[in-house]
Amino acid sequence: AKKKGKDQYAVFDPAIRESFQRHLEMEADLRRAVLRHEFQLRFQPIVRLATREISGLEALVRWQHPVRGMVPPLDFIPLAEETGMIVPIGEWVLREACRQAARWNAQRGTDAPLTVSVNLSAVQLDRADLPELVESALADSGLAPHHLVIELTESLLVDHRAEIVERLKTIKALGVRLAIDDFGTGYSSLAYLRRFPVDIIKIDKSFVDDVGDVPAAAALTHGIIQLGQALQLSTVAEGIEDAGQLSELADGNCELGQGYYFAEPLTSDAMQELLFPPAAG
Ligand code: C2E
Ligand code: CA
Ligand code: CA
Ligand code: CA
Repeated sequence: AKKKGKDQYAVFDPAIRESFQRHLEMEADLRRAVLRHEFQLRFQPIVRLATREISGLEALVRWQHPVRGMVPPLDFIPLAEETGMIVPIGEWVLREACRQAARWNAQRGTDAPLTVSVNLSAVQLDRADLPELVESALADSGLAPHHLVIELTESLLVDHRAEIVERLKTIKALGVRLAIDDFGTGYSSLAYLRRFPVDIIKIDKSFVDDVGDVPAAAALTHGIIQLGQALQLSTVAEGIEDAGQLSELADGNCELGQGYYFAEPLTSDAMQELLFPPAAG
C-alpha cells in the first residue's frame, strides 16, 4: 500500500484486522465503563516493619467488566492512557481514594492516621490542571494533604521538562508527599532523586523477591535502604511474600513494607473489617 498519511493504510491482513477490531471494541467498552462507573478500588496495607502496624494503604484500580469480570489494571491502563480515558478514570481514583481514607481516618481518631497512596499516569502528569485536581480532591474529601502520597514510576519521570518538575513542586507545596514507585528498575534512578522532590522510595519487588537468597539482590536492597536513610527518605519494600524476606528487610532497617505476606489488595469492605474488627463476643 502507498502511504497516504498516518491514518490511511488499508487493513487487509485478517489477523491485523481482527486485532484492530478487538482494540476498537475494548475502546468502546472502556468509554462505556467510564460513563457507567464500572471501576472499583482495592486497598493494600503498607506496614511499619518494626511494629507491624498499618501506616498506610495503596489504592489499586480494578475494572468490573460486565462480561469479562474483574479486569486487572495492566490489562486496561495502557489503552486508557492511549485514548486519554485515564484522565477521568484517574480523577475518579484520586477522589475516591481520598474520600475513603478521610472516612477511615475520621473513624480511627487523630492518634493513628493512615496515608493513602495513589498511582498517577504520565498522561495525568502532563496536564497543567493536575495541581488543582489534587487540591480539589483534598478539599472535597477533607483528607489532610500530608496523608496523601502520589506514586510516580521511574519511566514516568524520564520526562524531566521544567514544567513537570514545577507541577510536582506545586503539588508538594500543598503538603502532599511524593513516592518513586518500582525504584531501581529505571535507567537513572539516582538522577531522579536529585531532580524530583521525592519523599519516599518504593523498592521494586524484583529486588525483594531475591533478597533472602541472592547475595547481589540483598546487597542492592540494603544499598537502596541506606541511600534512603542518607537522604532522609522513607523506604517501602514492595511485594513481600514470605517471612524470610520480611526479616531480611527488617534487619536492614527498611521502614515500611507491602505484600501478600501481610495482605493482598482488599475491597473497602474487607479493609473496613481489618481496620475496625467487629468487637468479639
Ligand atoms: P504497582 O503500583 O507497582 O502496584 C503493586 C502491584 O503489585 C499491584 O498489582 C499489587 O496487587 C501487586 N502486589 C502487591 N503485593 C504483592 C505480592 O506480594 N506479590 C505479588 N506477586 N504482587 C503483589 P495490581 O493491582 O495488579 O496493579 C498493577 C499496576 O497497575 C500497579 O503496579 C500500577 O502501576 C498500575 N495501577 C494500579 N492502579 C492504578 C491506578 O489507579 N492508576 C494508574 N495510573 N496505575 C495503576
Ligand atoms: Ca504503586
Ligand atoms: Ca510498584
Ligand atoms: Ca510494579
